[in-house]
Amino acid sequence: MTLEIELLPILGDNYCFILREPEKGVTAVVDPGTDGPVAARIEALGHGLDWILITHHHADHTGGNLGLKERFGCKIAGPAAEAARVPGIDVELGHGDTFTLGAETAAIIDTPGHTRGHISYHFAQSRALFCGDAMFVLGCGRLFEGDAEMMFRSFERLLALDDATRVYCGHEYTASNAKFALSVEGDNPDLQARAREIEALRAKDQPTVPSTIGQERATNPFARARSAEEFGRLRTLKDRF
Ligand code: ZN
Ligand code: FE
Repeated sequence: MTLEIELLPILGDNYCFILREPEKGVTAVVDPGTDGPVAARIEALGHGLDWILITHHHADHTGGNLGLKERFGCKIAGPAAEAARVPGIDVELGHGDTFTLGAETAAIIDTPGHTRGHISYHFAQSRALFCGDAMFVLGCGRLFEGDAEMMFRSFERLLALDDATRVYCGHEYTASNAKFALSVEGDNPDLQARAREIEALRAKDQPTVPSTIGQERATNPFARARSAEEFGRLRTLKDRF
């Protein structure tokens, strides 16, 4: 059995993900930036809520924590290195830890750069990666607390995953990321094809998430950087784009 994963767009361009492990009947949400619409969807699904999984402390990823915990009595797991800034945290996770969700297990991967304690959740059986604001479709998170070297290493860890791994990132930034990607690697045929697909999806107001590790490796300029220096140059260009 694999995880059932539902995308819930919140707060304009954030994605909250609802995970259902059907075998043992366990439900989790990843990065609930707000409680109202998340609670409404959880109520509609009718399974309750057992866990909140947090990638990093920013309010657009944790703003729903306390409201959802009060309403559903769920537990909250998040990055140990940011525990003091994750409201309501019960379980602290770091690199090499595992998190059990019913019959599914996530490996915790440290992915600092956007924030210093940022973590990602890799459910290998379900081939699903929840990477918050580390890797985006065709982009990467802003370096608010870390540096290019740190984020380059984080990308290396994520890019080591199987090509078929689906990448569930925290924001729908893909259309603007595609413009930047084309500006630096406009002659990449895989990127050109992907940009056309993205344009078609966004024209119908459909999500571009998830992509896959294989797609990111072929088309994301940050995944194609061969050194931390090159990664840093790209990030600076993107900041000014
Ligand atoms: Zn963030
Ligand atoms: Fe965010």
